[in-house]
Amino acid sequence: APGPPGRRSAARAAEPGLPPVVDRVPTRDKVVFLTFDDGAEKDPRFVDMVRELRLPVSVFLTDSVVGPGYAHFGRLRAVGASVQNHTLDHPYLPSLPYAGQRAEICGQQEKIKQRFGIRPTLFRPPYGAYDDDTLRAAAACGVAAIVLWREAGPLRPGDILHCPEGRGGASLTRATTDLLKRVQRAGFTVARLEDYL
Ligand SMILES: [Zn+2]
Repeated sequence: APGPPGRRSAARAAEPGLPPVVDRVPTRDKVVFLTFDDGAEKDPRFVDMVRELRLPVSVFLTDSVVGPGYAHFGRLRAVGASVQNHTLDHPYLPSLPYAGQRAEICGQQEKIKQRFGIRPTLFRPPYGAYDDDTLRAAAACGVAAIVLWREAGPLRPGDILHCPEGRGGASLTRATTDLLKRVQRAGFTVARLEDYL
């Protein structure tokens, strides 16, 4: 992975006081970002892969999906992964009132704080679905940015990629290897999202 950029890119919020919503980071560096969701798959080989390749990854965790499996993500953190917020229960947030959205987001901030001693700065809404209440709730919970992702297409500098979990029976490690090959073929490297946001 390349080192952190000299200056942080300016991801702008639509309104002052609300977190920006990003699916791409404004940068000219030929970098992309790897993100993973939910926390269903807990393959030890993935921890080995992140360690051996020094692969910067951001993992957005849903409490009810991780279940009793937080130790796996502690091992991932220990080898350099960052752990971020993906709600307590993975609801479609726009169907919830403000208070319910806030409970989902702040609740997972607290769970991760309890487990790992750090409060996430990034939040990914389930299904990429959000509304104005989501932005206000995320701000109230201390979230610095709402992170979506770019769908398939030619890679562009700063794209935030979403790694499919075990789609078609392939393991997460295999799916990540395939994605890395695509990234390398296009002449890009993987950078740490938190260095750019
Ligand atoms: Zn999800």
